[in-house]
Amino acid sequence: MERKNAWTTYDDEDLEKLELTSESYKDFLTKCKTERECIQYIVGQSKEKGYKDIREYIDGGIPLAAGDKVYAVCMNKMIALFNIGTEPLSNGMNILGAHIDSPRIDVKQNPLYESAELAYLDTHYYGGIKKYQWVTLPLALHGVVVKKDGTVKEVSIGERDSDPVFVITDLLIHLSGKQLEKKANVVVEGENLDLLFGSRPIEEDETLDEKEKKTVKANVLKILKDYYEMEEEDFMSAELEIVPAGKARDCGIDRSMILSYGQDDRVCAYTSLLAMLECDKVSRTSCCLLVDKEEIGSVGATGMHSRFFENTVAEIVALLEGESELKVRRTLQNSTMLSSDVNAAYDPLYADAFEKRSASYLGKGLVYSKFTGSRGKSGSNDANAEYIGKLRDVMEKGEVNYQFAELGKVDIGGGGTIAYIMANYGMQVIDSGVAVMSMHAPWELTSKADVYEAYKGYVAFLKYMN
Ligand code: MN
Ligand code: MN
Repeated sequence: MERKNAWTTYDDEDLEKLELTSESYKDFLTKCKTERECIQYIVGQSKEKGYKDIREYIDGGIPLAAGDKVYAVCMNKMIALFNIGTEPLSNGMNILGAHIDSPRIDVKQNPLYESAELAYLDTHYYGGIKKYQWVTLPLALHGVVVKKDGTVKEVSIGERDSDPVFVITDLLIHLSGKQLEKKANVVVEGENLDLLFGSRPIEEDETLDEKEKKTVKANVLKILKDYYEMEEEDFMSAELEIVPAGKARDCGIDRSMILSYGQDDRVCAYTSLLAMLECDKVSRTSCCLLVDKEEIGSVGATGMHSRFFENTVAEIVALLEGESELKVRRTLQNSTMLSSDVNAAYDPLYADAFEKRSASYLGKGLVYSKFTGSRGKSGSNDANAEYIGKLRDVMEKGEVNYQFAELGKVDIGGGGTIAYIMANYGMQVIDSGVAVMSMHAPWELTSKADVYEAYKGYVAFLKYMN
């Protein structure tokens, strides 16, 4: 069963829309390198399209009605948007879900130390990374520092042309004989992924203790104090994420691809958001759910396992039709969902890891996976054939290029998403998403055609699924 290369199906109008989508997507990737930055951006865009904070309705005791658009944010890291349709909510919603956290390196809570007159930040990586890929790259520092009085200082260093960047060093090849005999998973060890932060000692300062005088660490602390009014102790209540510095770029001589940090899973999050904001009047309520912590198992208050989404749906039921636990359950059970996350694009240089007929390909459109998991579908959500039949019809109505795929060979590996968690409500849910090459690497690769097809697919889903 051959699937067409989406590029061969486009007319001039398609190509123009594809280019616009790619440009706005790259802008999103460049501006949003953390969950918090994503939420700020998404809230901004949503407000422009008439979405209001659900708190205004809850606190003001204002009822919701068809045509209303609301969003709910959890701890600045997770968001759910709702566009209330004309049908009763308990008929179910059309939900687009994706995650906005990406693999990265986090700064520890007691991170700053000096060694050989160099200052470092100690780190603990977040999500699955090949550690050796993260050395000798220009890195940026993003996040927040929260003071005891509740003031939040936003940090972003390394993205502007005038900013300094940071780096994690690696041993020179000339002395690497022993290092290169190691297995790749230990060639650079987690505890050695420390960020080089400074190298210049502080100028003589009589107010300092004898042991702080002339130290590089003292100078770093002075700079942090001057720029961020930050004390060393403030690292305890900081969330600082180390990510590759630099913009999302066109890739390839034909500019057909996008190279950027954080495309897992911001490619699905962004295209879901675009579709959500574009679909105006709906009969079936639509929802866009963008979550945190997928890369570490969907845990915590801002991960998909949290009750946040369910609680928000309960609030919406209450504001629409009055409190009803049963209606909350019916709403969730009768919903249909595209749980979107990236798939592994077939890479001919690593053909061994894939089974060609069940791999996803760059340029062949939105990817559906009936099931995820590996070695006997373990841990998978296995979407219903009846639901898939309907989806095929919906995708055809939207003239969407799409493909079905598994992530890698049966016994090699695999990955899970948030689909299985949503399936617990008894709703129809399938894994979908965009094919990515070099997934979880500092710079990940997608095809512009797939980004465009994902957007088209999500629009079709919100419009035609019922
Ligand atoms: Mn993902
Ligand atoms: Mn991932």
